[in-house]
Amino acid sequence: MADPDQTDPTCDVCAALVVQRAECYRLRDLSGVVDCNVEIRQHPHTEVSR
Ligand SMILES: [Zn+2]
Repeated sequence: MADPDQTDPTCDVCAALVVQRAECYRLRDLSGVVDCNVEIRQHPHTEVSR
């Protein structure tokens, strides 16, 4: 499973989602992990152009 890790480090929402996803992994809450991944992917800056 590929997790979206190309999050904008300056984005508070993505940072929070990454933290939340790690917490879900720790709790073995896979549906929570998927939810976080979906939310991260849906964030508008997934296609980062430098
Ligand atoms: Zn974001």
